[in-house]
Amino acid sequence: MTERALIAVSGLVQGVGFRPFVHTLATSLGLRGFVQNRGSHVFVDIEGDAAALAAFVDRLSSEPPSPAAVEGVRCERATPVSHPPFAIVQSAPAAVDALRRVAPDLATCDDCRRELFDGTNRRYRHPFITCTACGPRFTVLRQLPYDRAATAMAPFRMCPACRAEYLDPRDRRFHAQAIACPQCGPTLLARDPEGLRERDRGQAALALAVATLCEGGIVAVKGLGGFHLACDATSVAAVAELRRRKHRDAKPLAVMIPDARLVRAGSVAQAVLNSRERPIVLVDRALVGVALAANVAPQCPAVGLLLPYTPVHHLLLHDVGRPLVMTSGNRRDEPMACDDDDAQAQLGGVADLFLTHDRGIDARSDDSVVRVAHDRTSFVRRSRGYAPAPLPMAERTAVDVLAVGGHLKNTFCLVSGERAYLSSHVGDLGSAASYLAWRDSVRHLTNVLDITPAVVAHDLHPDYVSTELARGYDSTTRVAVQHHHAHVLSCVAEHGCREPVIGVAFDGAGLGDDGAIWGGEFLVVEGTAYRRAAHLAYVPLPGGDAAAREPWRMALAHLSTAVGPDLGPIGERLAERLAPTPLRVVRELIARGFRAPPTSSIGRLFDAVASIAGLRDHASFEGQAAMELEACGEATPPHRYRFDLDTSHAPWTLHAAPVVRAIARDVVAGRPANEISAAFHRAVATMVADVAAGLARETGIRRVVLTGGVFQNALLARLTAAALVAAGLTVLEHSRVPCNDGGLSLGQALQAMRMMNPRMVEERPVCV
Ligand code: ZN
Ligand code: ZN
Ligand code: FE
Repeated sequence: MTERALIAVSGLVQGVGFRPFVHTLATSLGLRGFVQNRGSHVFVDIEGDAAALAAFVDRLSSEPPSPAAVEGVRCERATPVSHPPFAIVQSAPAAVDALRRVAPDLATCDDCRRELFDGTNRRYRHPFITCTACGPRFTVLRQLPYDRAATAMAPFRMCPACRAEYLDPRDRRFHAQAIACPQCGPTLLARDPEGLRERDRGQAALALAVATLCEGGIVAVKGLGGFHLACDATSVAAVAELRRRKHRDAKPLAVMIPDARLVRAGSVAQAVLNSRERPIVLVDRALVGVALAANVAPQCPAVGLLLPYTPVHHLLLHDVGRPLVMTSGNRRDEPMACDDDDAQAQLGGVADLFLTHDRGIDARSDDSVVRVAHDRTSFVRRSRGYAPAPLPMAERTAVDVLAVGGHLKNTFCLVSGERAYLSSHVGDLGSAASYLAWRDSVRHLTNVLDITPAVVAHDLHPDYVSTELARGYDSTTRVAVQHHHAHVLSCVAEHGCREPVIGVAFDGAGLGDDGAIWGGEFLVVEGTAYRRAAHLAYVPLPGGDAAAREPWRMALAHLSTAVGPDLGPIGERLAERLAPTPLRVVRELIARGFRAPPTSSIGRLFDAVASIAGLRDHASFEGQAAMELEACGEATPPHRYRFDLDTSHAPWTLHAAPVVRAIARDVVAGRPANEISAAFHRAVATMVADVAAGLARETGIRRVVLTGGVFQNALLARLTAAALVAAGLTVLEHSRVPCNDGGLSLGQALQAMRMMNPRMVEERPVCV
């Protein structure tokens, strides 16, 4: 008996070889009809033998091709119409659709990599080899549906051989939109950084880049989402020269290694390195089985590694035969260069050669960074490979939302229906270039997703560039969200939790609603409201933002608060290491309260402790001192420190003074830094559990959210979570978005959703 079905398949089903799969499946079962991309889902109109049709529907979701992810199959009966043999038909234009899906970029698959190095294959060493399972997606996309004409591949006319594969349902490049070969694909170019003069093309261009790298030179390589700067990662001289030219003194550099087998087998790190998203993985040095130049990540317990994810990377690594530094091609605080002119402007004085190509980049996308420590995996940066894959929301919005994010590590977030699209990493919004990049990225993503925000959420800070960008949407409703409230909501959104929570938001800095600089906060969050239930007692932040790079300033601030103006022996220790004039100036700022706003930042307390313990007085990036403190804190401490909790008035205040005094005494007494660090980490974890347990008794809320950049400290996160669980509380941590400001926009978006859709939080709680 003949039956007919109309089927809508949603999920990640476009640009991943799904239609060819449907075609093969339907044909093998003798079914007729067609398959089509419609908006962001795949539509199938199919008829034939009833049993075959049932098998088809079953296998549709059970056997999809590897990068595809079927989320829903909606099936409807219809009257048979005598379809012709099964075919793939032209995509229908994108309709406004709550199920918009954009595939993130996909690393070169194993099949393509084999062909790349197969001398008999017609794509042997073709730098742009791809198939339906791999290659550029988001970074070349102009609009949905994902068809070649809507991508940066549009200018390249398929040759007859490629066209034949593209049209052959049995071929793995059937309807591969980025299909290319040496005859018809993009071309690799070697260019001079000065004037962009073309030096060579194709394999000769590659050979020139390989020679430059082997001689210790620096090559700017155009990748998927922007330019990298590459050099020999085993050469101290090459790395030192890159640092000198890039004015980057100590910040760790990412290294591309040929094979994950260079990292200890069976480790979580190895699995993440091999994942399709190919992030940079911060791996414990002890797990790395390859010698790298010491100045790649000086004094750093972890090293950032990644595997090749484009054919160009595979060719470079293969031909150079050693690991390569692959760091973002940008000037400090600017977005990475995307085209040759931008690369010339930013990297002209840094690179010896440009290895570029003539395929455009429509969306900038920096590498993602994942940290693996204590077998925990957490995002430091969620970008290429992940963004803008949607995050499901437990709450549905009737109006589209744009959340502009924070000031540092910026991402923005779009929400439509019940999906949130967190953008690629935009970075620090300190420069004019990043301001423009932000606007371009928003324009691109709103365009691709066909979202017109009716409400714009931003940080409470009036001077953030992101807040200014939000004010640019002058005819749109605007919602200001307190920084730490947004951090808590970001984690709440990830967990789809509608119930009230106790939020522990620990970070470097965010503007509080009392005008002080917050960063050690316990917020009770319920619906759209938050109550500041407890916080670290205020200490002066001498010199404001400058304190983040100069931990010694916070050492003075905390010591002055804890022991008074006469610092005694610990003051003498500091005076031995620091120049007298700045020391005197900062002590003046603290004493007079001039240019020293009050702060409750825990991030700055970690800095202070690192400096007092003699680990680091000057940092070349925020969080460096805290990282080093974490690295030496593994030991079980033979002693304890305790915070003082004052519950006599609301909000409760936590005094670090007893901890700081004890640490100062221990330093003077010659206790080693690792014992001090270990005891300090445990003191913070115990303090969190004590306060949370107290608040749980007071409010009846038993869910505790851990959020904010300080929880990138895996040791602290592990100890704190364990202490909370031991206190009988449920812990919610970030897993799909960063706990740092890179996840902030998701929380801002949730607050805007809740404010615009007040009934949504009253629905049945779904929290587990
Ligand atoms: Zn492939
Ligand atoms: Zn071709
Ligand atoms: Fe923050």
